[in-house]
Amino acid sequence: MSIRLRLTAWYSGILFITLLAFSLAVYGFVHLYTYDELKSRIQQQYNKIRPVPTINEDGSMGFTPDRSSTMRMEEADLYVQSYTYQNERTWLSDNMRLRGLEFEVPTVSKAKKEQGFKKKNVAGYPFIVYQDFVYTQDNQIYGWLQVGAYTGSVEKTLARLKSILFTGSLATLIIASTLGLFLARKSMKPIQTVADAANQIQKGTDLSVRIEYDGPQDEIGRLIGTFNGMLERTEGFYKELDDAYAAQRRFVSDASHELRTPLTTIRGNVDLLHKIWAGSPSERPDMDEETLKQIVVEAVGDISDEAKRMSRLLSDMLSLARADTGQTFEKDPIALQPLIEEVVRRANFLPRKAEWHTGDLSVLNGVYVEGNRDYLQQMLFIFIENGFKYTPEGEVRLDVILYKGQVGIRFLDTGIGMDKDEIPYIFERFYRADQSRGVTEGTGLGLSIAKWIIDVHEGSVEVVTRRGEGSTFIVWLPTIFAPPLE
Ligand code: ADP
Repeated sequence: MSIRLRLTAWYSGILFITLLAFSLAVYGFVHLYTYDELKSRIQQQYNKIRPVPTINEDGSMGFTPDRSSTMRMEEADLYVQSYTYQNERTWLSDNMRLRGLEFEVPTVSKAKKEQGFKKKNVAGYPFIVYQDFVYTQDNQIYGWLQVGAYTGSVEKTLARLKSILFTGSLATLIIASTLGLFLARKSMKPIQTVADAANQIQKGTDLSVRIEYDGPQDEIGRLIGTFNGMLERTEGFYKELDDAYAAQRRFVSDASHELRTPLTTIRGNVDLLHKIWAGSPSERPDMDEETLKQIVVEAVGDISDEAKRMSRLLSDMLSLARADTGQTFEKDPIALQPLIEEVVRRANFLPRKAEWHTGDLSVLNGVYVEGNRDYLQQMLFIFIENGFKYTPEGEVRLDVILYKGQVGIRFLDTGIGMDKDEIPYIFERFYRADQSRGVTEGTGLGLSIAKWIIDVHEGSVEVVTRRGEGSTFIVWLPTIFAPPLE
């Protein structure tokens, strides 16, 4: 059963009970009030009648209510009847006699149960009658006196009241239920919309669905607001997950692609060596010893280079895989000057064609960052090596700036540079700009690792570059106060 119907049923049920109780109370009250009044009138008059004992012609005793009181009663629309048991004679007030009415008289033995008020039907007319024995002075029963009132009009009024209450209640119930159903349907309509939207989302994959609602901010308005908010968050999460999943897939496919190239070279060279040394003399290329030796040395050199490339690639991938699992590293206060000086010194031994210069590093005296020595060095080497790799001639330069509680390490080169629109991608995994792809050796992972290291150090990086003119990378790291001397 729908909530709509259930609400209406409850509402109608409660209304039904309320109407029933109200009708019963009204009817009961009117019934009691009219009958009470009638009864007290009858009782009053009954008590006023002074039966006058009479000696009948046959010598038996009888009684007749006194004339003046019966006259009064007739005026008050009361009907009087007396009966003498001894001679079985009945006396009737004029209004009874004239209408030919007579109340039923019980025998003495049965009459005991009939004392008091009784409803009677005489010749098809309804009456309420008060009846009791009449006693002689020595307490002997000698008569049965009955005073009644015609209740037809009262009954009619009560019957009319009953039917008014019944039809009124029924009409109210029907109108209220219909209106209730209509209102319930109207107020439930937005909920139906929510359910439809939820259903649509459940069936499809479209999380961009939102529920249109321009009604008041009542319970339903708030429910729709919450639902839309939930959808928005879910859509956000889903997109993040989807992006992460896509990135993961790209990473795996790029990684396997990158690993295949060195493996192919290694296999080719191993096959060549195998042919030279393990094959039958007829398969061996027809060459002199000196040429053969040269080929072998070149093949072994290739294998060694590719193995090195692979191991570099694997170690880079491992770093990124660790970064993906949310792994960070221990950080301590690090004095920057000795660390950078050490990196600058070691960079002198790296292969390069450009000149290698450094600015004044003494400004770093007493400057500390919260960081990890090994990872900071790795990051610095990535930028310096890139500078060397992508600067066939000219200069690669490192200098430092202190600005607003941050230290900026600037790597400047006058190398091949990049297109501006490539900047957003260079920190992505395996991304290599067009002009370096296939020309300069590299994996496309260096800057992703550097970016991760910078992020963990709560730093940032800026890039300025122009194709053919060179590039400048500035890494900003927050500085800390010098730690106390130990
Ligand atoms: P890799 O250098 O191994 O290719 P990186 O992640 O370090 O990978 O760099 C990504 C790409 O960014 C490089 O392939 C190159 O195209 C570009 N790039 C990085 N540094 C420089 C630079 N100093 N000058 C010009 N291009 C650069």
